[in-house]
Amino acid sequence: MTLATDTATWQHELSNVLSDPVELCEVLGLNTDEADRIEAACAGFPLRIPRPYLQRIRANNPNDPLLLQALPTTQELIEDPAFSVDPLEEADVSPVNGLLHKYAGRVLIVLNGHCAIHCRYCFRRHFPYADHRISPENWTQILDHIRSDDSIHEVIFSGGDPLSCNDDTLARRINSLADIEHVSTIRFHTRLPIMIPQRVTPSLIDAITSTRLHCVMVMHCNHAQEIDERVSTAFDALHQAGIVLLNQSVLLKGINDNVHTLKELSQVLFHNHTLPYYIHLLDSVQGAAHFNISRERASIIHSELRASLPGYLVPNFAMEEAKARNKTVI
Ligand SMILES: *Cc1c(COP(=O)(O)O)cnc(C)c1O
Ligand code: SF4
Repeated sequence: MTLATDTATWQHELSNVLSDPVELCEVLGLNTDEADRIEAACAGFPLRIPRPYLQRIRANNPNDPLLLQALPTTQELIEDPAFSVDPLEEADVSPVNGLLHKYAGRVLIVLNGHCAIHCRYCFRRHFPYADHRISPENWTQILDHIRSDDSIHEVIFSGGDPLSCNDDTLARRINSLADIEHVSTIRFHTRLPIMIPQRVTPSLIDAITSTRLHCVMVMHCNHAQEIDERVSTAFDALHQAGIVLLNQSVLLKGINDNVHTLKELSQVLFHNHTLPYYIHLLDSVQGAAHFNISRERASIIHSELRASLPGYLVPNFAMEEAKARNKTVI
C-alpha cells in the first residue's frame, strides 16, 4: 500500500461522508426500520461517518465496535442529571478565544471545529465551536499569550480535528509558534489519520515537520479493527518523518471494555510505531451516559491489563476533573 500524494483525495473524503441514515442501513445490512430512530437520535449532532472508516465496519453486525462509535441511538436523548453539557467547565480556563490554559507548561488550541467523524461519546458534542472560531485577531492574541508566558513549552492542537485544516494553514500556525523561543514541542490530537488515512501526504508531513519544533501526534484509536493496511501505511510515514506517535482511547461500554480488546489494541498500535498513552474514563457529557463504565470496573480492567502486557503497552487510565491541575490517573 502506498501513501496518498494528492490533497484532493482527503478533501473529497472529508466532504463526501456518509450522513444519510437510510444509506447507512442499506450499506451495513441493518433493518431499515432503524433509519427513523437514527434520524430522531441525531438531534443537534448529525450522523457523520467517513467512507474509508465505513469500509472497516463489518456488515450485518449491529454490535460492530466501529459502528457503535458512530451510530446515533435514542439512548442519547435520555437526560441524566449527573451528565452536563460542559462537564469540564472549560469556559473558566479560556483566557483568549480558542485557547485553553489549564495545565502547567502546556496550552491547548481549539484549531478547528470540524471533525471527519461524529463520535457519539464525544465530550465536545455541545462545544460552542462557532464562538471559538479563530479570527486573525484571536490568533494574534493567542500568540501574545504564549509569548508572554515562558513556562509554556508545549502547544497542543486540538479540535474538532486539527488535521481538518489545510496544510498551508497548519504550516503558517506552526511557523509562527516556532518563532517563540520557549516553545519546544507541538502536539496534535487527531483521529484523521485513522478516519481518512489519505490525509497523511508528503505535503502534510512537510507542513508539520519543517520547523525546529518536536512533533508529537496523539491518535485517537479505540479498537484494533480501526487499523487497516492504509492506516498502517500512514502511521509508517509519520514515524519515518520522526514524529512521535502516541495513542489515546476512551473506555467505552460494549466497544472496548474488556482486557482482550485492549490488549490487542496495544499490540497492534505497537506494531504501528505507536505507544498507548491514555485511556480515558468517559467525561460526563449529556447524551453519552450509555457508554459509561464505572471507576471500579475500570480499575479491574486496568489490573488485568497490567498482568498481561509489558508496562510500556499499558496506557494510563485517566479522567479529567474540572478543577484539577492535571489529568487524574486512577
Ligand atoms: C488533556 C489536556 C491537556 C494535555 O494533558 P496531558 O496530560 O499533557 O496529555 C492540556 N490542556 C488541556 C485543556 C487538556 O484538556
Ligand atoms: S473526532 Fe474527537 S472531537 Fe471529533 S467527534 Fe470524535 S471525539 Fe469528538
